[in-house]
Amino acid sequence: MSDYQFFAQVNKAFDKAAQHSRFDKGLLHQIKICNTVYHVTFPLRRDDGSIEVIQGWRVEHSHHKLPTKGGIRFSTTVNEDETMALAALMTYKCAVVDVPFGGAKGGIKIDKNNFSDAEIERITRRYTFELIKKDFIGPGSDVPAPDYGTGAREMGWILDTYRQLSNDINSEGCVTGKPIPQGGIRGRTEATGRGVFFGVREACKNKDDMKELGLEPSIEGKTFVVQGLGNVGYHSAKYMSEAGAKLVGVAEIEGSIYDPNGIDLEKLVEYRKETGSIIGFESTKELENNKAVMEAECDILIPAALENQINADNASNVKAKIIAEAANGPTTSEAHEIMKSRGALIIPDNYLNAGGVTVSYFEWLKNLSHVRFGRLEKRAEETSYRKILSVVENISDRTFTEEEMQSLAHGAGEYELVDSGLEETMVNAYNEINELRKKHNIDLRTAAFLNAIEKVGIMYEQMGIFP
Ligand code: NAD
Repeated sequence: MSDYQFFAQVNKAFDKAAQHSRFDKGLLHQIKICNTVYHVTFPLRRDDGSIEVIQGWRVEHSHHKLPTKGGIRFSTTVNEDETMALAALMTYKCAVVDVPFGGAKGGIKIDKNNFSDAEIERITRRYTFELIKKDFIGPGSDVPAPDYGTGAREMGWILDTYRQLSNDINSEGCVTGKPIPQGGIRGRTEATGRGVFFGVREACKNKDDMKELGLEPSIEGKTFVVQGLGNVGYHSAKYMSEAGAKLVGVAEIEGSIYDPNGIDLEKLVEYRKETGSIIGFESTKELENNKAVMEAECDILIPAALENQINADNASNVKAKIIAEAANGPTTSEAHEIMKSRGALIIPDNYLNAGGVTVSYFEWLKNLSHVRFGRLEKRAEETSYRKILSVVENISDRTFTEEEMQSLAHGAGEYELVDSGLEETMVNAYNEINELRKKHNIDLRTAAFLNAIEKVGIMYEQMGIFP
C-alpha cells in the first residue's frame, strides 16, 4: 500500500480518543504535532574508498517533559513520516506507563546487510556527532535507545562518541540499551518482550473478556504466532512459551512456518543460525509466503516486525482472537475496525511494547545515580532474612538446610528489581487503561490514547506559553 502514511494513522487513533477528552482544539493540536524535526545527510567513506550519502532523522515529538526518549531504527523503511509517527507513539507510550519523558525517535535509512560492521560503526558515530552538534542528544535533552536494526553494540558506539565530546559527569545517561560494562542495566535486552508477556498475561486474566472470546482465562494452553524473530519477537515468544502457551507459527523475512503441535523456539533459533532460514525446520509446514502466517489458525497473533502488517488487504482473514501489538503500528485503523467488528481483542502498541522504555528509564536512573540497583541493600536484606529464619528455627523444630536458607534469605539484585519494576508498571498500566475502556465504552487502543492525552494535556495546561 504505497499511500500508507504512518503519522496520519497515529493521528487518526488520537482524534478518535480526543473526542472523549476535556481539552480544547488548540491544546489537542499542540499535543499531537511534532515539536522538532531534524533531517540530516552526511557522507560515508565506504570500505572500497567510494563515498555514499547517508540520510538520517531525529524527531522530538513532545517537550512537555525532558529529556525526550525514543529508539534509533536502521532500516530501508525509515523516512520523515515514519520517524514522526514513531516519535509521537513514544510520547503516548511514556505517558501510559508513567515514564517521565517526552517522545522522540531517530532513524537511518540503510539496509544493514549491505554494509560491513566497520561501515555501520562509522555511520553510527557520524550520526551521533550530527545529533550532538544540534543538541539532539544528552542525558537531560534527548536520550536514544535501540529499535529495529539496532542493539547494545550501536548504543555503545553512541555513548563512546558522546563521551569523547563531553565531560558531563552524567554522560552515561545520554543513551540507554547499552552493554552492561558501559552503564547498561540487566534486563534491558529482553525488556520489551518481557513487557509484552506481562501485558498479554494481564489481558488473558480478564474472565469477562476471555469468556466473550470463548477462551480460558489464562495464558497456559493458548496457541500463538509471532511475526519477526528479532529482539522483541524472540523474547515475547520465549516468555509466552515458558508460561505454557504454544508457539504454532513463525514468520521471518524468508517466509513462514506452521505446526499445530508446537514449535521449539530455542531449537528454531539454532536452526536459523545454522541454515540462515526458518524454512524446513523439523515437522513444520512451509506456508505460501512470509505474510501467510498472519492468517494462520491461533488464539494470539504477535506482530513483532514493522508497521502496516495488518491492513485492509488481510485483516478480514486474520483468525486470531487476540492481537498483541509488540511492534509499533502493525495494525492500520481500517484493519483495527475490521478485526474489532468480528470481536477480536486488540492490545495496542502504545501500551504493550512499553516495557523497553520502562527499563530504559530504570537504566537512565541508574546512570544518573551512578550506582547499581540493589548494591547497597542486597546484603542487608539477606542478613535480616537469615535472622528471621533462625528465630523460626529456635521456636520450632524445623532446621533449614543451607540450600533452603540461600533461597529464602535472598536479597534482590539488579535484575530482580528491574523485573519487579517492569511487572508492576505493565500490570498497573493495563488496569488503568482497562478502567477507562469500561468507563467510556471504548476499545483498549482508544483508552490508551485517552489516558495519554489526559496526562500530557495537564502538563501543557500548566506550562507557561512564552512570547
Ligand atoms: P529487530 O531488528 O531486532 O527484529 C525485527 C525482526 O523482524 C528481524 O529479525 C527481521 O528480519 C524481521 N522482519 C522484518 N520484516 C519482516 C517481515 N515482513 N516478516 C517477518 N519478519 C520480518 O527489531 P526489534 O527491536 O525486535 O523491533 C521490532 C518492532 O518492535 C519494531 O516495530 C520496533 O519499533 C518495536 N519496538 C522495539 C523495541 C525495542 O526495545 N527493541 C521497543 C518497543 C518497540
